Amino acid sequence: MRASAPRARNLTGHRKFTGGKLVVASHNPGKIREIGALLADFGVEPVSAGDLGLPEPVEDGDSFIANAEIKARAAATASNLISLSDDSGFAVDMLNGDPGIYSARWAGADKDFSKAMQTVEDKLAEKGATRPEDRGAEFICALSLAWPDGHIESFEGRIKGTAIWPPRGTKGFGYDPVFVPAGHEQTFAEMDPSDKHAMSHRALAFKQLIDACFTAG
Ligand code: IMP
Repeated sequence: MRASAPRARNLTGHRKFTGGKLVVASHNPGKIREIGALLADFGVEPVSAGDLGLPEPVEDGDSFIANAEIKARAAATASNLISLSDDSGFAVDMLNGDPGIYSARWAGADKDFSKAMQTVEDKLAEKGATRPEDRGAEFICALSLAWPDGHIESFEGRIKGTAIWPPRGTKGFGYDPVFVPAGHEQTFAEMDPSDKHAMSHRALAFKQLIDACFTAG
């Protein structure tokens, strides 16, 4: 059997992205722009899965990482290019991690996050979770970088805090108005977006990804 060509690896043993096109395995233009900006310093030319006409796979994994890997692998296989995907959501301790990977689905077809936040609150109320210490929650973001040969690197960022009620703030999206990160007073939807972006689950996952796969070593 022929030995495979040597591949760039950095000091951490992770496979490195060596520049050029990177498929962002999403059909959401906002996400493509955001990811493109985060990786702009690393010789990345982002291309969206939507622009390439790649099919959207069924996300039937049982974890954020499993779903991120499904999307990244599908895009890498279909495009023959290195592909990055993310999967994220809101997880409440007392609800055994729900809504978790179903975070978007709890908002229904009309993407009504007031309804999704109300559902979280109703379920917490059913459990008598009134004290802040019973209302622990976190945002989770998984990132997967897949190569056409099947290699994959995955990372997960989490930020812990408290699920509050009623919702506060108008700056964020999704479940931001009901989440106060630990050590802070404001919800994600009240704080300056740059403060959220500096501490968020997504920032923490990107930091790991960049350190492992995008920096010289
Ligand atoms: P997806 O990873 O784009 O499918 O997002 C899943 C869902 O998780 C979103 O629709 C949001 O409801 C929720 N979510 C993920 N990240 C955040 C966040 O930073 N703030 C608020 N909600 C979020």
